[in-house]
Amino acid sequence: MSAENPQGEYITFSEGEYQIPDRPLIGALPGDGIGPDIWSATKMVLEAAVAKAYAGKRKICWQPLTAGEAAFKESGSYLPEATLAAIEKLKIAIKGPLATPIGGGIRSLNVALRHHFDLYACIRPVRYYEGVPNPMKRPGDLDVVIFRENTEDVYAGLEWAAGSEEAEALGDYLRDKLKAKVRPGSALGIKPMSPEGSKRLIRAAIQYAIDNDRKMVTMVHKGNIMKFTEGAFRQWGYEMAKAEFADKIITEEELVTKYEGEWPPGKIILNDRIADAMFQQLLLRPDEYDVLATPNLNGDYLSDACAAQVGGLGIAPGANVGDGIAIFEATHGTAPKYAGLDKVNPGSLILSGKMMLDFMGWRKAGALVEKALQATILGRRVTYDLARQMNDGEEVRCSTFGELIVAAM
Ligand code: NAP
Repeated sequence: MSAENPQGEYITFSEGEYQIPDRPLIGALPGDGIGPDIWSATKMVLEAAVAKAYAGKRKICWQPLTAGEAAFKESGSYLPEATLAAIEKLKIAIKGPLATPIGGGIRSLNVALRHHFDLYACIRPVRYYEGVPNPMKRPGDLDVVIFRENTEDVYAGLEWAAGSEEAEALGDYLRDKLKAKVRPGSALGIKPMSPEGSKRLIRAAIQYAIDNDRKMVTMVHKGNIMKFTEGAFRQWGYEMAKAEFADKIITEEELVTKYEGEWPPGKIILNDRIADAMFQQLLLRPDEYDVLATPNLNGDYLSDACAAQVGGLGIAPGANVGDGIAIFEATHGTAPKYAGLDKVNPGSLILSGKMMLDFMGWRKAGALVEKALQATILGRRVTYDLARQMNDGEEVRCSTFGELIVAAM
């Protein structure tokens, strides 16, 4: 880890709010593979947007941190304690992709980071940027923000191999005590979903809708089949909303029974949809949806399906957020074959940086980033991934794409 930036001040978090100084210290982890390429373009764009929006009054002071292969070479650890301690103190960080170490017992560095900091909400805004090649007739109809629960569900890591001692012991318990029909020799996994874990995720989605002037929050679940896990997710969501957001939220049912279908001004609608139907809804009636709150597995599938509708994962941003720590990240991987070639699209990390600026309340700078990225795509001088799908697109380098965005501000 490099020395601290002496000019910056630490961000603090109290009573559920971040306090952002004018020169905040923010953690920067370029990551592995193409990470350093996309990070240098992103840094250039974010710095230019902040300088332009606030005329020097505000400035991000980056705190360089290492994780992944670079950290392993330096310290023998993929996720050094010093990096974890620094993120804890800095509160907000932005990261490029990290390679999953082969062997060594680490499932994924991203999963490890999420668990370490209890980053329970994976947030993925998905909207269309005009000019991005895509498979839909009206791609602009989709504009959703997905809140995916990040710590529970079948992704909790509670699974045991077929024939293992653990699977056999659990199988015996299920057969003997619960009279469950489980074939001997089965592999077994457990799907934990708690009221606390579900409510905090749905609470974050509702709060986001309130703060960002969104109109609807939809809980996506498979509660018709998995009644006590996903069905309960839905139920806990309605209970929590009633207890904590009664002045802000009405349910879809209340819209009909209490308000005769007339949307009362200023109210956000809370509704729910069955996951399989939701995949259809998002293709057939995308403009009817806004903020989505989902358990872990549904959210994983839905995020990528939605990203495909607007042109793929190449420019999809994301963040993993807990109470008091937020890490913004590119949603794609390290694309090792392009590492160091100054070739790939930095759009995903740049838009994650835009999310970070909005999250900090620096919305003027965030809006500049988004507008300039849109103008650059319309200018059709783009990285290879977009150029190859456009009829008349000109391929430019990753760094040039960043420079074009800065020039468009
Ligand atoms: P990947 O790195 O996302 O790359 C797959 C393909 O996606 C690339 O070959 C390229 O397609 C395209 N692509 C990815 N990023 C792009 C960009 N910025 N611009 C343009 N095209 C881009 O997936 P992977 O090869 O499966 O995974 C490689 C490593 O990344 C693995 O170690 C994996 O564990 C890790 N990973 C990390 C994260 C994370 O840190 N969040 C997420 C996913 C995977 P073309 O070949 O068609 O050009």
